[in-house]
Formats: sequence, C-alpha cells, structure tokens
Amino acid sequence: MIVKRIALNGFRNYDFETVDFIDGTNVISGRNAQGKTNLLEAVYMLSCGRSFRTRFDRELVGFDFSSAEILADVFSHDREQTINIKLQPGQAKKISVNSVKKSAGELSQVVNAVLFCPDDLNMIKEGAAVRRRLMDNAISQIRPRYAQYLSEFNRLYEHKTRILKDWRDKPSLLDTLDEFSEGMCRASAQLIRYRASFVQRLKKAAAPIHREFSGNGEELGMEYKTVSSVKDPFASVKEIYYDICEHQERHRQAELDSAQCLTGAHKDDLEIYINGRSARSFASQGQTRTAALSVKLAEREIFLAETGEYPILLLDDVLSELDEKRQEFVLNRIGGGQTLISCCEDEGISRRTGGKVLFVEKGRIK
Ligand code: ATP
Ligand code: MG
Repeated sequence: MIVKRIALNGFRNYDFETVDFIDGTNVISGRNAQGKTNLLEAVYMLSCGRSFRTRFDRELVGFDFSSAEILADVFSHDREQTINIKLQPGQAKKISVNSVKKSAGELSQVVNAVLFCPDDLNMIKEGAAVRRRLMDNAISQIRPRYAQYLSEFNRLYEHKTRILKDWRDKPSLLDTLDEFSEGMCRASAQLIRYRASFVQRLKKAAAPIHREFSGNGEELGMEYKTVSSVKDPFASVKEIYYDICEHQERHRQAELDSAQCLTGAHKDDLEIYINGRSARSFASQGQTRTAALSVKLAEREIFLAETGEYPILLLDDVLSELDEKRQEFVLNRIGGGQTLISCCEDEGISRRTGGKVLFVEKGRIK
C-alpha cells in the first residue's frame, strides 16, 4: 500500500500544502523544526486516526487555525482510495474513506503503517511499556478485535486503580472491586492469547532480518512474558483466564495494600535475546539498535503476510543514529513497499538514495 498524495490544511505547521510521494523511498529532508516529523505524523494518522506524538487532537491543529484537515489519495487493496480526516477541537473527529464515514479503528483496513523513531532505537533497554506499545500498535492494526479488548482493558484498569487509591476514604468503592478485577482477568486472557501468537510470528520474521542486518550472523531471540501464573499463553482463552484468576486471588490483599493493580496484562513484556543472552542486560548500544530495527522490519513482514501488501514504513530521524553500514542497509536494501524517511538536510543522505527527495522549509515543500 502506498500514499500517493497528501494534502494538509491547518495541520501543525502546514497551512496549506500538497505533497506527492513515489512508490519506493521518499526522503524528507530539511533543517530542524521545519515540519519533517509533522508530515510523517500526518501519514501515520491515515493508518489509525491518531498521532504517535500526542493523545490530544487539538495539538495537531495549526496555531492560527480553528480546524485541521488531512486529505490523502492512497493505493491499497488494488484500488485508489481517498481518506479524509477532519479535526475540530471540541468536536469528535470526522473520518471518511471514499466519502463513507469510518471509525479510527477501521482505517487499519485501508492503510497500515510501521513507524520507527529515535525512541524506538532504545526500545530494548527501556521499560516494558515501550515494548507493550509495539505489540499493541501492531496487533491492533491487524486484529480489530484486539483493539476493542485493549480499550476495554484500559478502561477497567483505570477504574480499578482509582478504587484501589480511594477505597480508604470511601470504603463503599470496595463493593465493585471484584467485579473490575474479574473483568480485567477476562480481558487480559484475550490480550495474552493475541500477544503470544504475535510474538511467535515476530520472532520468526525478525531472526533472518537480524542475521543479515547485523552482518555477522547474530541470532535474535524473543520471549513473551506475562502473568506468572499463566502456564501456557497459547492455551485456550478460558484456561488462561483461570490461571490469571488464581494470581488475582493470591494478590487481592497486596493490591489493597499497595493501591496498585498487580494482576493483568498491563505488566507484560517482550524480552529480546541476542545469541541467547538478554539484550536488555548484555547487548551493546549498536547491537540493541540493530535489533530494534530488525524487530520493526519484522513487523512489516507480518503486515505483508496478513494483507498481501507491505505497510508504509515511516522512519523519523533514525538514520543519523546508525552507522554507515546500517544506513546503507536501510536506504538501499529495504525492498518492496513505500518508505518515508525524514532526516536533517546536512546529513547528505538524500544524495545516497535513488528515491525521491523532498525538501521541507517552514511547512512548505520545495
Ligand atoms: P527536527 O529535525 O528538529 O525533528 P522537524 O522538521 O521534524 O524538526 P516538526 O516536529 O515537524 O519538526 O515541527 C515543525 C514545527 O512545527 C515546529 O517548529 C513546531 O513548533 C511546529 N508546530 C508543532 N505543532 C504545531 C501546531 N499545532 N501549529 C503550528 N505549528 C506547530
Ligand atoms: Mg523531527
């Protein structure tokens, strides 16, 4: 799938601009604070209706504008499609595909995107939240049901946390505690089942990429970690549910004491190994960066297998963080599909790719 053209109106620092992309590599070059990331952000929005930088749509609306609009022509599932996203602070955002109203979640049936930004380079060493986000973003795009379970889980989690924090002042809150715990166990069981099979696929896809990318045949491994009482994350949802409930029962008192949810999929992790050793503990900076990129490229392969098309790959400012050999790999060896790469003008990267180069200056494409 590719985005052929995008028109931005009042989006971030783009007052009114239309950008044409080619199938293949597009390098978005420019000095700092000109609008490179903003442009990638707009393309990313086509895949899920929200930004990767903020939860607040109002931040996306240009400072001097009362609303923002993204209009894009994409080619996916063998046809041209037009996506329109309108953001107006104070109102629900309006999304349509070929003039038919859609929800944000439904956009993943039209466009998929894999984003890689500097934060992701450190995903292996960072806290588990980053790696959970990776799983959540990817699975939500290929399994709409997962997105529903996830938002249900998050709602329960927030509510239960509030009960655990406030019950001393308001003991009547405890009346509903077990109901929320039960709901969280139920939703967790679903999430765990999806995550386990996703990680299995990711591991399979990432290993050969990493072997080539690392240049010296490093072996990349992965393991999904979840609630300790879950004996087999590939078991039926029912079995997983019973296992989690057991954990919940054992930790009920500790939850009341600590005012924290201790049982559930919110503590899951994805452990990455290089040559059998935990990358988090032992890998060098270069190794973890290479591994992170391998994982992202593997995500792309999963989308390909699912939809028959490569997702749009968005690389925001990551090239400068990689050495020349790895830059070369990214610029010229990522085959198939469309790639949008942002980088700073003075890096000379634009000269080293056969793709299209777009220069951004103050929200305009030169
Ligand atoms: P860098 O190389 O530093 O990453 P960039 O080209 O990626 O720079 P962007 O993140 O795209 O820069 O931001 C470009 C400009 O857009 C910034 O100056 C930022 O302050 C501005 N900006 C952000 N949000 C809005 C908004 N809602 N309205 C207008 N301008 C905005
Ligand atoms: Mg940027």
